[in-house]
Amino acid sequence: MTTVGILGGGQLARMLALAGAPLGVRFLIVDSASDACAGQVAPLITADWRDFDALAGLAQRSDVVTFDFENVPADTAHWLSERTRVFPNARALALAQDRLAEKSLFRELGLDTPAFATVDSRDDLQRALDRVGCPAVLKTRRLGYDGKGQFRIRAADDADAAWAALGGVPLILEAWVAFEREVSVIAVRSRSGELRTYPLVQNWHADGILSASLAPAPDAQALNAAALRHARAIGERLDYVGVFALELFVVDGRLLGNEMAPRVHNSGHWTIEGAPCSQFENHVRAVLGLPLGDTSALGTSVMLNWIGELPDPNPVLAEPRAHWHDYGKSPRAARKVGHATLCASGNVEMAERLARVARALGRDAQVAPVLAALGT
Ligand code: AMP
Repeated sequence: MTTVGILGGGQLARMLALAGAPLGVRFLIVDSASDACAGQVAPLITADWRDFDALAGLAQRSDVVTFDFENVPADTAHWLSERTRVFPNARALALAQDRLAEKSLFRELGLDTPAFATVDSRDDLQRALDRVGCPAVLKTRRLGYDGKGQFRIRAADDADAAWAALGGVPLILEAWVAFEREVSVIAVRSRSGELRTYPLVQNWHADGILSASLAPAPDAQALNAAALRHARAIGERLDYVGVFALELFVVDGRLLGNEMAPRVHNSGHWTIEGAPCSQFENHVRAVLGLPLGDTSALGTSVMLNWIGELPDPNPVLAEPRAHWHDYGKSPRAARKVGHATLCASGNVEMAERLARVARALGRDAQVAPVLAALGT
């Protein structure tokens, strides 16, 4: 019996365990919260990332250890890698934890980024603003996600407030780009170095949190080829094994790199029903050294995120080819508690279903940009 250990027990671990079960794979989850939602579908060890007794037990019982959370300390990953196989490797994890290292690598490998500068003092911030210009966004280099640890600087006058909010930890200032759209590419790389990408996804955020995804992103043929090239270069450089996501901005029809997630990603949830092999199954396959699955799209898919609390599932379930995912988490502001995916053979059919769901749930604002992108 093969066992995959997962550090982090949120919805990503839960969906990994659900995808791996038909392959006959067992899972063992480690999370510091005893009510971590992956614990509802797989055995859970309640322990801290630095509880080395618990981690030794995990290493002993797991054929491979992987992550549902990118901020697991890289030295924990390194410690585990001396005792069992760990994918992705500790170096890739460490790189993706630091916005500066990540953006520097993107540039080195030919993926442009918004202009950026490091900021470690109030004086640095001034110099960085002179260089990068306004509007800009000041971000913590580490531990930021879903728009946390960020301060928008609309005019030079905001600099003091930005420094007061975030100063004291390593920071990065980025030019605020007026993107045409946000897209992401989900890539999977095998132990033998084969890399596949799913079609680019178009994404919409609200308050820094993913709100909706449309796959495949419309009119993205040239961008798809570029995304595959960038994913391949990054995957090879990091000797990456498993699924990763690149979050990208489209500016003047070109891709700019925003960040990399060294794990399965929210903008890939549509693949559960919208692709022959989901990102979750492909991650499990990759880390176990199994052949990778088909990453093409089966028609059009739209994923709607449920943030804070779940809406009524009935109007969604009443639609054909509609899928409901309740993560089994208690409601809390800004918390991802579930999602729905609608699948259709084409954009017209999708737009009809989506509009009906939006009306029934009172979600017109969340769905309006997706309907516009569907061009119906
Ligand atoms: P992040 O945590 O860096 O992914 O940021 C969350 C969201 O904020 C992104 O998905 C964008 O919608 C927005 N954002 C972040 N950085 C920038 C930027 N430099 N220019 C424009 N929008 C940004």
